[in-house]
Amino acid sequence: MSGCTQCGTCCLKYGMRLEASGQDIAKWMFDGREDILRHVLIRYDEKGEVSEGILWVDENGNKVASCPFLRSTEDKRYFCGIQDAKPEVCSWHFCEKYYPFD
Ligand code: SF4
Repeated sequence: MSGCTQCGTCCLKYGMRLEASGQDIAKWMFDGREDILRHVLIRYDEKGEVSEGILWVDENGNKVASCPFLRSTEDKRYFCGIQDAKPEVCSWHFCEKYYPFD
């Protein structure tokens, strides 16, 4: 996003309240992204279809403290370590700093 200052607020503030879509999960499975899938708690409905994908969890399915893919530089600029494969919900994020409400 042009205008992004890489402050990291979106990921630090909202990164742990997210859910993966069925499409996200299907894509990660198709692409063999075990590195991502191991951090997603996938629940299935009675038909065996994905009902939810909880982000982000450890190997025991427990929520972790922060998104495992958030990276930062020495001068405290943040970026996504899985930019090309990040969840849909991260792509839709609306930055209130870039588009302030007055
Ligand atoms: S996946 Fe990327 S964009 Fe989404 S919360 Fe994690 S670091 Fe941020």
